[in-house]
Amino acid sequence: MKLFAIFGDPVAHSRSPLMHNSVFKNLNYKACYTRVHLKDGSKLRETFFALGLSGANVTVPHKESAYEACDEVRGFAKKVGVVNTIVNENGRLIGYNTDADGFMFAIKEFGDIKNILVLGAGGTAKALCARFIDAGIKVSVLNRSQNRLAYFKELGCECFTWDDFKIGKYDLVVNTTSAGLKEEILPCPLELIEKILDNTSFVADAIYGKVTPFLKLSKSKNIICKDGADMLLGQGVLANELFVNYELKTLDIKNYMSKSFEL
Ligand code: NDP
Repeated sequence: MKLFAIFGDPVAHSRSPLMHNSVFKNLNYKACYTRVHLKDGSKLRETFFALGLSGANVTVPHKESAYEACDEVRGFAKKVGVVNTIVNENGRLIGYNTDADGFMFAIKEFGDIKNILVLGAGGTAKALCARFIDAGIKVSVLNRSQNRLAYFKELGCECFTWDDFKIGKYDLVVNTTSAGLKEEILPCPLELIEKILDNTSFVADAIYGKVTPFLKLSKSKNIICKDGADMLLGQGVLANELFVNYELKTLDIKNYMSKSFEL
C-alpha cells in the first residue's frame, strides 16, 4: 500500500485527500492519501521520509520550501521556483508544478484564448502568467498596488494598477486576488470591473466553493464563468497521474475525482 499526503498550514480544509482517495478506491489502486499539518517548511523533506511517503502535494505556505526540499525539479516548476507535487523516485524527491497546467486544463472548454486579463499579482498570478506567456497568450495584469508588478513586466505582461488602468478587449478575465474569499468584496472598484466585464468573453475565478461577488456580477451580465473548482480538479488529475506513474487512464481519474466534489 502506497501512502500519499498533502502538506500545508492550515491543511484541515484541503479537499485533496477526498479527491485522491476517491480515485484510488474506485480504481482499486493500492494507495491511501492523508493530510499533514506542517508548520515549519524546512522540515518537509525529513517529514516526507519519516512517514514513508510515495508522493505528496504541497499547499500554502510551503510551495517554495518544497522546491528547496527536492533533489530534482522538472518542467514548469523549475521556471517558477514553486513546487506543488512531489514524487518519491527511488529515494529521490522529484518536484513538479501542476497548478498552472491544471488551470490550462480547466479553460480548455473556452476554446482558443489569445488575450487574458489577470486580476491580482500574487503567487497564483505568477504561475498562471508565466504559463500563459509560454503558451503565446497576450497577458495584462491589473493589481491594486504597484510593488508586485516588476516580475510581471519582466515576463512580458502589460501591467497596470487601479490608477493607470487602460482597458482592452479580452477573451478571458481571471481573478487571482483573494478578494471575495472571506469578505463579500470585488477584486477592484465597481466602475473598473463593470468596464472589464463588458469587454470579455469568459470569466474565471481561482476561488472555489462559493460564488464570489465577482462571479455574481459576471453571471448577471450573462458571461460564461467558472470558479476555481476546475483548476483544483485539473491540478489534482495531473498530480494523480504522476503519483500512479500514468498507470491509470486520465479520464477515469478525472471522473472519480470530480465525483468527490459531490461528497
Ligand atoms: P497571494 O496572497 O499571493 O496574492 C493575493 C493577491 O490578491 C495580491 O495581488 C493582492 O494584492 C490581491 N488582493 C488581496 N486582497 C485584495 C483586495 N481586497 N482587493 C484587491 N486585491 C486584493 O495569494 P495566492 O496567489 O496564493 O492566492 C490567491 C487566491 O487564489 C486565493 O483566494 C486562493 O484561495 C486561490 N487559489 C486557488 C487555487 C485553486 O486550485 N482553485 C490554487 C491556488 C490559489 P496586493 O499585491 O496589492 O497585496
